[in-house]
Order: sequence, then structure tokens, then C-alpha cells
Amino acid sequence: MLKKQNQFSLRNYAWSILIAFLSAGWFYPTIGLMAIVCMAAPIVVAAFSGKRKWCALFCPRGIFNDVILKKITRNVKPPAFLISTAFKIVFFVFLMANLILGLADANSIAEAGLVFVRLVSVTTAIAIVVGFYYQHRAWCGFCPMGFLASLTIRWKQMSKKKRHKNITVNKLEQLQEDKLHEKKAS
Ligand code: SF4
Repeated sequence: MLKKQNQFSLRNYAWSILIAFLSAGWFYPTIGLMAIVCMAAPIVVAAFSGKRKWCALFCPRGIFNDVILKKITRNVKPPAFLISTAFKIVFFVFLMANLILGLADANSIAEAGLVFVRLVSVTTAIAIVVGFYYQHRAWCGFCPMGFLASLTIRWKQMSKKKRHKNITVNKLEQLQEDKLHEKKAS
């Protein structure tokens, strides 16, 4: 119970990590590189847990949406296209292309960090607009990292099913072989 209360109160303040990152990032752009951790975490956690635990519990932007945007959202269902796979793919490619082009142009660590600061600023602005206009977690419906985390889980489930199928087929083959040996022996 106490543990749950602590988690709850921590979540009430953890959104400030996002604000601190953005505020400091514009003055000390190297800080921007920390965004790599937050970008990789949803995928890594999904790969190990098979669930979007990072998104549900730890993502600073997710927490920002839950704690701050929830207070101001109009709470209107987002249009279907916003969470369609086609839109997610287009948006993912668009953001990644911008990120890669920006990094390719960067001549120093600070400039590379600034690319991340800009990216997080723009995506936060989008998250605020859609979070206010639709639902507080509307951004998470098409967030590129959340999308990759979902794909990771699907891939994990598919490979688990395939492994299970292979084991079953192997067992059946073994059973048939055993029966054949028994027949030959008798
Ligand atoms: S979908 Fe994106 S923004 Fe939302 S919680 Fe997951 S990683 Fe964070």
C-alpha cells in the first residue's frame, strides 16, 4: 500500500523531468543526448517485459500527459486516422528522417544534443496540442517510440508462438518415430 502511494506521489512530480530537460537543454544542448535513453527505454523494456511498462509507468512525457494534460484536456476521442498504422508509419519516417538529417549536419556533440532538444520540444508541443484538443494521452497513440515498443512486443509474441509451434512439431515427429521403432521391434 505504502509502495503504491510512493509510486503515485513520485509520478505526481516526475513530469518535471521533461520540463527540466527542455529548459536546461536550450542552454546546455549537450543535455539533449539524454533523450536517447528515453527513446530507447520503451523498446528495451518492451523487449524484456513483453509489455509497454515504460509507457505506462516511467516515461516522463507519458507522466506529463497523465498529470498535467489530464487537467486541461477536452477529452474528445481522437480521429481514427491519428492512430491508424499508416499515419504512425508516415509520422515515424518523418521524425526519424529529420533526426538523422539533423545529426548528419551536426558538427559537435552540443549540436547533436541540440537536434534532440529541438525534436523533444516540437514533439512536446504536438503532444500538448493533441492532448488538449483530444485526450490527454492522444500523443501516445502515434508516438514513434511507443509504436516501436508495440512492434517489439508483437515480434516477441510471434517468435514465441513460432518457437512453441516448432517444439510441438518436434515432439510430434519424435512421437511418430518412437511409434515406428516400437512397431519394427514388435
Ligand atoms: S507512447 Fe511515447 S510518449 Fe507515450 S508513454 Fe510511450 S514512449 Fe512515452
